[in-house]
Amino acid sequence: MSRTALITGATAGIGEACVRNMVAHGWRCIATGRRAERLTALVAELGADKVHAACFDVTDEAARDAALADLPASFAGIDLLVNNAGLALGTAPAQGSDLDQWKTMIDTNVTALVSLTHKLLPALIERNGAVINLSSVAANYPYPGGNVYGGTKAFVRQFTLGLRSDLHGTGVRVTSIEPGMVETEFTMVRTGGNAEAHQKLYGGADPMTADDIAETVRWVAQLPPHLNINTLELMPVSQSYAGFQIARES
Ligand code: NAP
Repeated sequence: MSRTALITGATAGIGEACVRNMVAHGWRCIATGRRAERLTALVAELGADKVHAACFDVTDEAARDAALADLPASFAGIDLLVNNAGLALGTAPAQGSDLDQWKTMIDTNVTALVSLTHKLLPALIERNGAVINLSSVAANYPYPGGNVYGGTKAFVRQFTLGLRSDLHGTGVRVTSIEPGMVETEFTMVRTGGNAEAHQKLYGGADPMTADDIAETVRWVAQLPPHLNINTLELMPVSQSYAGFQIARES
């Protein structure tokens, strides 16, 4: 029997790749995001029996609830929630950053994620479902300019682990996926559309692709029901850790 996944942020990058991958492996997907034309194109390409477009801003709970209330019967039983929608805004140090950007990251990456999870948990428990949250290596390794973005992703990781504890005995599986550098629209969004910054970061680095992460998400989702991946950190081979920084007098 075909299972249904709700994937947030499916208009680009990792979320869109997840929809393609999951559909190719027999899943039905509810694809969400703000850019309606991209969702419509996905439905046209993959088929309305496989993909349902639910267009809403994840921070707008009323719009989200209206879209979820409007699901066709064949998409109404959600087995998997992929909390992928998210963003980083800005690369400035905390002392030079824009508070509105900080609030947008918290609203999107944290508040909207917990709100949607809270809404779907009863149904996921009923269906022995699963939650896969997109955290980041930024949750685990601080870097200059990562401030609130890293904080939101650390929240996502810890929230995931807390959910695991709370859902003990329910059969619901919960996973935090923590990727390093993936070439998507992420850096364009972060820098307000700076193509040079995008090229500088990814150029020559052989970064991970959205398909790499989608394949991982799909693999986690299709593991046998007795197996739970708690956290999974991935990086391209070209990326590794750097040391501490030391500020010296003079
Ligand atoms: P992306 O290409 O920029 O895609 C982000 C997706 O999130 C888009 O579909 C966007 O859709 C959606 N989104 C953002 N704000 C939204 C809002 N308010 N309401 C609804 N949807 C919203 O970035 P990506 O790299 O695929 O990122 C996906 C996730 O992976 C994020 O949580 C990110 O933090 C995480 N991640 C990325 C990387 C990386 O290197 N790329 C590494 C680690 C973790 P609309 O704009 O159409 O709404």
